[in-house]
Amino acid sequence: MGVALAAALAGLHVFPLWPRSKTPCLHGKRRCQGTGVCAQGHLGWEQRATTDPDLIRYWWSASPTSNVGIACGPSNLYVLDLDDAHGEQAPPEWAGARHGSDVLARLAELAGQPYPDDTYTVVSPSPSTHLYFAVDEDCPLRNTAGRAGWRIDSRGAGGFVVAAGSMRRDGLYTVARRAPIAPLPQWVVPLFTPPSRPEPELIVFGDVRPLADARRQAYLDTVAGKVANALPGTAHNTLVSAAYTLGRLVGGGEFTDDEARSALHIAAQQRRVPALEADAAISDGLEAGRRSPRRLEDRAA
Ligand SMILES: [Zn+2]
Repeated sequence: MGVALAAALAGLHVFPLWPRSKTPCLHGKRRCQGTGVCAQGHLGWEQRATTDPDLIRYWWSASPTSNVGIACGPSNLYVLDLDDAHGEQAPPEWAGARHGSDVLARLAELAGQPYPDDTYTVVSPSPSTHLYFAVDEDCPLRNTAGRAGWRIDSRGAGGFVVAAGSMRRDGLYTVARRAPIAPLPQWVVPLFTPPSRPEPELIVFGDVRPLADARRQAYLDTVAGKVANALPGTAHNTLVSAAYTLGRLVGGGEFTDDEARSALHIAAQQRRVPALEADAAISDGLEAGRRSPRRLEDRAA
């Protein structure tokens, strides 16, 4: 809650993510029931992100271990996300680069500009570097993936970043540079501007990955459904065993950790398992399951 309140004090619009994940925990359009805040039409995380301390206290007291998402659009924020190579070779035009920061350094050199790191900076556990920049309210820049160069993504309107102080299974998001958020340097703007030819919008870092396969979604729903419908006194054990089941499939590459976590957290919330207990049970179960990876069986229909 402290992380969320501090971000809001700095003028950033926040919303909760499932514990140890980067998946929004406000309901998505697919599960919208058209009631409450959505009575006049569905509101997503971007519309519901807030700087209101009372709403923040309400959200985080219900789930104290929730991570903190910062909606870039309403916060007038543009974030450059420089990723590690993760052992991959750079393509020929960026030969020798080992991180998005190497690529950005070359782009700065080509433009005859200083490397733009004199701003508030966060490092994610992966580890990638998030350079925060302030933009005008009507800034047209949106999310990009690799448009500016190898291992350089960005988040603008329609995207969000995970705030420093948030935790994932593989570590913490930490502040790498506690500087004020600098204005976006003009020279980088063309790098992130879409070509005039319309192209399909990339949805990155911030939107739940749509499952390619209805069968995978059905499997996730079935496992989570067992938790939501557990008999009295069995909810905890059912949750651990469901987390173990999904952990094995995360290990086998069928689901991401975020997909499994958010499905289990939604089910635990429906079954009214206390948030802290749910977080511990889910993390333990997923961790144990991941040690025995398996894939979904490919049974012929
Ligand atoms: Zn809704």
